[in-house]
Amino acid sequence: MAFKPVVALVGRANVGKSTLFNRITRSRAALVADFSGLTRDRHYGEGRVGDRPFIAVDTGGFEPVAKDGILLEMARQTQQAIAESDVVIFLVDARAGVNAHDHEIATLLRKTGQRVMLAVNKAEGMRYGSATAEFHELGLGEPHPISASHGDGVVDLIELALSYLDEEGAAVAEHDEEDIAFDTSEPTDESAQDDIAAEAAEAAPDHRIKLAIVGRPNVGKSTLINTLLGEERVIAFDMPGTTRDAIEIEFDRGGVGYTLIDTAGLRRRGKVFEAVEKFSVIKTLQAIEASNVVVLMLDAQNEISDQDAHIAGFVLETGRALVVAINKWDGLDGEHRDRILREFERKLRFLSFAKMHTTSALNGQGVNALLKSVIAAHAAAFAKLSTPRLTRVLHAAVEQQQPPRKGIFRPKMRYAHQGGQNPPLIVIHGNALDAIPDSYRRYLETRFRTEFKLDGTPLRIEFKSSH
Ligand code: GDP
Ligand code: GDP
Repeated sequence: MAFKPVVALVGRANVGKSTLFNRITRSRAALVADFSGLTRDRHYGEGRVGDRPFIAVDTGGFEPVAKDGILLEMARQTQQAIAESDVVIFLVDARAGVNAHDHEIATLLRKTGQRVMLAVNKAEGMRYGSATAEFHELGLGEPHPISASHGDGVVDLIELALSYLDEEGAAVAEHDEEDIAFDTSEPTDESAQDDIAAEAAEAAPDHRIKLAIVGRPNVGKSTLINTLLGEERVIAFDMPGTTRDAIEIEFDRGGVGYTLIDTAGLRRRGKVFEAVEKFSVIKTLQAIEASNVVVLMLDAQNEISDQDAHIAGFVLETGRALVVAINKWDGLDGEHRDRILREFERKLRFLSFAKMHTTSALNGQGVNALLKSVIAAHAAAFAKLSTPRLTRVLHAAVEQQQPPRKGIFRPKMRYAHQGGQNPPLIVIHGNALDAIPDSYRRYLETRFRTEFKLDGTPLRIEFKSSH
């Protein structure tokens, strides 16, 4: 399984990075906006251009000469984003022309060896040659004129960027075929059987739970993974064929098959797995994307931070099922526990659909209960909701509380059917449904959630009016 490719937007201030970012991610802001207390990180988003999925990163700024302070931190984060991306789009400003800062960035980008596409922004209304001519001197190949605010050239640019990756991916996969490493543990009859089981599971991917354990550095992710893997034999350990392949670790526990989507390049060292990379936002996002269920780990001994909220925000945006683990619970004395639990519950109200557990990754306390919720969240995310039952629940909800009128029209909801899974999507058909307010949408969501016991998964409702 391949991760979604990552496209990083780089350039000096005011060239139009955030304008382009907003255009290519077309974020579902409306869906997550009403979760209070969540400061959304608008620097990472799911790309939505054409039919190719990708992750877009707005590097915010680029200060190659920074020596210290916040600029240095920004430069560090930008460099990490560039290193972890599959293609860089370097934006320059057609109206301002080339400047010294552009040259500095171009030099740095050339040194990284990453694939760079040069986008000349704000080119709307300019003649093709005159917009791009002077930017050849940056030495980064053909400049592509675009207008982030008007949309001109943007789809072509992204499609071209992604098509390069296809070619590269194919080349790497072919080349690496012989180098793929397999689990070198002693082959036994049992493991041969497990291989057969693994293949069977591959054929029916929904039967294994794709699990991502995410959280900021030091909350206890690796400790939990070792607790999970230590007790049960790991049945497969896939090495990546290309840099974009997800590293997956399969394990069984209590008769349930899990595929752990790795966020940090875990390697086996002796008996335990160790993370070989430091914390990576991009790997975290890719793992969330590639999973069915996310365990969001928080540290009971520390405040909830913006970084926690950003990761939670991305889980909401992707619609993955979610279970929250408040870890390091063992390190708290009794009198603090109630207060801390109340505080976490208050701050995480926007995740109220998710089950919350206190755990100790270190001694295993709470881990079985956590996995039970993972299984339940997975089942909810893939629940099959029949049209007659959905429609019955819809009619009962409407009978109890009518949607408000808009002018002389009252929205009329006729029937509902399921339009997708993970997250469940409920499509409601009727007339004048564009007038239905968000509060009523939430009312319906609560009704469906309760009736179908959809704990642990976000739920999406879409209205389709016939006129
Ligand atoms: P950033 O600092 O690189 O993220 O740049 P912004 O996206 O904030 O854009 C800086 C300014 O350029 C804003 O005033 C935008 O409205 C403007 N801008 C962005 N894209 C375009 C474009 O395609 N054409 C024109 N004319 N202006 C643009
Ligand atoms: P990661 O960066 O999220 O993978 O965090 P680690 O698993 O490396 O854990 C960071 C530190 O927290 C290590 O020193 C762990 O021993 C410690 N730690 C992890 N889980 C627990 C826990 O449940 N209780 C306590 N007291 N310490 C823990």
